[in-house]
Amino acid sequence: MNEVKRPKKPLIYYYVIVLLILLLFNFLAMPYMMQRQIQQVDYSTFISMTENGQVGQVEIQEQTNQVIFTDKDNTAIYKTGMVNDPDLTQRLYDSGAKFSGEIIEQMSPLLSFLLTWILPIVIFIGIGQYMSKKLMERAGGPNSMAFGMGKSNAKVYVKSSEGIRFSDVAGEDEAKENLTEIVDYLHNPGKYKEVGASMPKGILLVGPPGTGKTMLAKAVAGEANVPFFSMSGSEFVEMFVGMGAAKVRDLFKQAKEKAPCIVFIDEIDAIGKKREGQIGGNDEREQTLNQLLTEMDGFEENSGVILLAATNRPESLDPALTRPGRFDRRVPVELPDLKGREEILKVHSKKIKLGPDVDFGKIARMASGASGAELANIINEAALRAVRSGRKAVMQADLEESIEVVIAGYQKKNAILTDKEKRIVAYHEIGHALVAAMQSHSAPVQKITIVPRTSGALGYTMQVEEGEHYLMSKEEIENKIATLTGGRAAEEVVFGSVTTGASNDIEQATKLSRAMITRYGMSEEFDMVAMETVTNQYLGGDASLACSAETQTQIDKQVVTLVKKQHEKARQILTDNRQKLDELAKYLYEKETVTGEEFMSILNA
Ligand code: ADP
Repeated sequence: MNEVKRPKKPLIYYYVIVLLILLLFNFLAMPYMMQRQIQQVDYSTFISMTENGQVGQVEIQEQTNQVIFTDKDNTAIYKTGMVNDPDLTQRLYDSGAKFSGEIIEQMSPLLSFLLTWILPIVIFIGIGQYMSKKLMERAGGPNSMAFGMGKSNAKVYVKSSEGIRFSDVAGEDEAKENLTEIVDYLHNPGKYKEVGASMPKGILLVGPPGTGKTMLAKAVAGEANVPFFSMSGSEFVEMFVGMGAAKVRDLFKQAKEKAPCIVFIDEIDAIGKKREGQIGGNDEREQTLNQLLTEMDGFEENSGVILLAATNRPESLDPALTRPGRFDRRVPVELPDLKGREEILKVHSKKIKLGPDVDFGKIARMASGASGAELANIINEAALRAVRSGRKAVMQADLEESIEVVIAGYQKKNAILTDKEKRIVAYHEIGHALVAAMQSHSAPVQKITIVPRTSGALGYTMQVEEGEHYLMSKEEIENKIATLTGGRAAEEVVFGSVTTGASNDIEQATKLSRAMITRYGMSEEFDMVAMETVTNQYLGGDASLACSAETQTQIDKQVVTLVKKQHEKARQILTDNRQKLDELAKYLYEKETVTGEEFMSILNA
């Protein structure tokens, strides 16, 4: 790979441009600048000035047929055309002017030649030298490839006291515990060598996006106080085959020089994807992966280089990469639970002024399913909202509103619903809430609003679970489906017609009921047989069917039956409570936003 030639073209390009500019300057600007100072006068003025003794120096240029002269004080330069004047010499002598033939306005031909030709060339060679030196430095010395090709470009965070620490990463206690061992090893490798234990060479952090994988890797480096090399998987993949492999080599070379240290490869699935047998695969990626595998084998255990990598798609990684001896430890970094969410909120609110009424427990409950990155975003949105309304501290209302902003987008200020539409939306949302509240298993509603949002939602019902749930019973899922159909059911009960507003509810209800049948074994017919497998666990959880076409037909039928039953149940609940439904919808229609307490007090009145 070392014989990659230095690309000459760009350099020549710059040389030519510099040369052109200098030439243009010489030919156009210089003569113009010199000319400007010389005033042209007629010959009679020259004669009268000579006779009045106002002329200082005179140069007669016979070649160009002109006379150049100055005034007495040598302050101004004049020129005039030559006339056949045999008495001129005598007249000049009489006037006492100097006419020794000395050049007044022009520099010596030698100096002029030096300035206009030699100097530009010297400057231009100087610039060329400087640029090639700089490029060489960037490429890492005269022997390496030019323009940084094949260089790893890894960002190095050398140890610093303000680095990220484990205390900055809230929640994720299991992951932290796992990584603490690494820190301990980097501090005191002797302890491990004595027993004969060796550290894992590579640790794979897996989990959904925004759960703090990058942060954890930085925290390990911060705690261990060692250099931290960070690079993203996609940065290895280059246009030319072999470049990525060269980068991997370079990264490991640098790391070994700086050992003990941590090398972090983010989104490792970009290079670590399974190699497939097909012809014409991605050569560059495969070579890069092969190089990575070789390098991981190459460095000895206990050499002090610890490799951390992060991915959201562990299932797509090449088995050779995840085998023992390479990335042999897998640390799951999951979405935070209730306690974790509360801690993350607290960590991020440290640099924010908080009002007295802030209750992080409640916010954490409201933001169920949010990742660490989303929680950080919620805190920041709340702070921005506080500033926008001219307050000095963040209040609970700011945080609650910012959850809605993160979930549903900003309030649409100028979306004007017709009166009829607004009534339908009000009934729709109360339909959800009422069905939820009337089923004993459903969580109480936190808030119902019919203010349109930028995400396109015309209104929504926010349900908040009291505690953390890890399991859901069959009844709970069924009730959830009933709640989802509640909006449409209310429209049917009250208006006798249906609208497009329920599309999202329909999608969710279908997904849930399909999962009940195909994945959770909650149907009588299929018992505990998996009909679907989840492929992308951390990125949305797409499922692919794994059954015959006949079974699929049966599944579809069952899904319809299941949703239908729950829809019927929701309709029944609303018909039975028609009076409450009207009362609540009217209240919501007028107020636009109803809190959980208001809702319950009207319901129980
Ligand atoms: P990932 O690498 O998992 O996609 P990052 O580590 O880049 O996620 O996290 C993105 C941001 O989210 C961080 O900069 C931090 O502000 C916030 N964050 C995520 N998880 C946590 C956590 N557990 N504790 C504190 N902040 C977190």
